[in-house]
Amino acid sequence: MATNADQVTALRWKKFPVLNDGFVCLVDLMGDDQSVVQAARVSYGEGTRKVSDDRGLIRYLLRHRHTTPFEMSEVKLLVRVPMDCWRQWIRHRTANVNEYSTRYSLAINAMQTTTHDGWRTQAVQNRQGSSGFVDERQGEALSASEAEFQERARALYEERIALGVAREQARKDLPLSTYTEAYWKVDLHNLLHFLALRMDSHAQWEIREYATTIGEQIMKPLFPIVWEAFVDYRLEGVFLSRLERDVIVRLVARLATAGRAQGSEEDFLAAQDPAWVDMQRCRERDECREKLRGLNLLK
Ligand SMILES: Cc1cc2nc3c(=O)[nH]c(=O)nc-3n(C[C@H](O)[C@H](O)[C@H](O)COP(=O)(O)OP(=O)(O)OC[C@H]3O[C@@H](n4cnc5c(N)ncnc54)[C@H](O)[C@@H]3O)c2cc1C
Repeated sequence: MATNADQVTALRWKKFPVLNDGFVCLVDLMGDDQSVVQAARVSYGEGTRKVSDDRGLIRYLLRHRHTTPFEMSEVKLLVRVPMDCWRQWIRHRTANVNEYSTRYSLAINAMQTTTHDGWRTQAVQNRQGSSGFVDERQGEALSASEAEFQERARALYEERIALGVAREQARKDLPLSTYTEAYWKVDLHNLLHFLALRMDSHAQWEIREYATTIGEQIMKPLFPIVWEAFVDYRLEGVFLSRLERDVIVRLVARLATAGRAQGSEEDFLAAQDPAWVDMQRCRERDECREKLRGLNLLK
């Protein structure tokens, strides 16, 4: 069986491609599943515990949202990300960052491109999301104008540089699709927090691609037990508010009386929280409905 040291050797500096020209790669690692256990059991030492005890402890810690044992491990990545995506990424303040400087060096000559079938349409319900795709013929035109624009923007940048304009000023009209690179170091607790937010379906597709690659290609092999618990309790777990719990209780009682296993929209509306009844649009109700569908309680 591969040890953690073998996994680290195999992964270090291996570039996992993301988008058309981005990547993530592991640079350094401190810790493994065992470090979480060691931190939590600081008073006991190794002893004679079985692996299954360690797994149970890690799962307990993650389930109950303990933090500091997960802060004992650190991961350093090198990432190459388009600027618009990086702007979202950099909001996670608990990481340490060193970014490529376009004051010292020429801006990276690569931009995120979109394939003809990759242009998403604006979501109607979720104002900051997308849903579906523009048709392929329109997509072809959009990709062609994107290529033309990106080429012009780069040419303008290089013209300014050739005329002696300072790099710090010449860059100002480069598009947000321009790639940047950075070292990004974060502890395991905050990395899991980042992944929970950015692997979520509400996150923008581009950053989700990065988060999913970090999670599945790097974290999963390096922290297999933590990763399993993270998927079970965070990524695929369902959190229920007091209101949602009460909706379920009312809905299940209604279904039991009617002798049905699954409810309709009418059942859901009858069981909804009283405060939602008079609202035309209610995001909390929509979220509740989605959760109940996921639990197979609603059609
Ligand atoms: C789907 C989605 C949509 C978003 N939309 C927007 C938007 O429209 N506009 C916008 O501006 N942002 C938006 N954000 C960014 C979001 O509000 C957070 O800034 C970002 O996700 C970083 O999360 P964080 O603060 O929890 O992470 P980190 O900065 O890594 O912090 C981790 C945790 O540490 C603690 N912490 C860190 N720093 C401090 C501090 N200074 N004081 C107190 N506690 C601290 C907090 O508990 C925090 O949760 C969005 C994020 C997501 C995932």
